[in-house]
Amino acid sequence: MIDIKQFAELQKQSKNSFADQRQIMKKVMAGQTVLCSTCKQPLCLLTPEHCSIVNNASSESSGIRCNKGCTDIQLDFV
Ligand SMILES: [Zn+2]
Repeated sequence: MIDIKQFAELQKQSKNSFADQRQIMKKVMAGQTVLCSTCKQPLCLLTPEHCSIVNNASSESSGIRCNKGCTDIQLDFV
């Protein structure tokens, strides 16, 4: 059984975090420094070409990540 209220709350949360992620993306792509909300490390725009901070991810996908990986935003759904 799905609790309708819980489900609505969940949808609201994921919508909020999606908006947050878009905000973060815009800033990072504009060259601004954005800190991870969890570990307070600067987020890095990860592209197949280069990323000076995070180097342990597969180079196939673009995304925004922090040093520790607690923030990991994939860019393909934008
Ligand atoms: Zn982090």
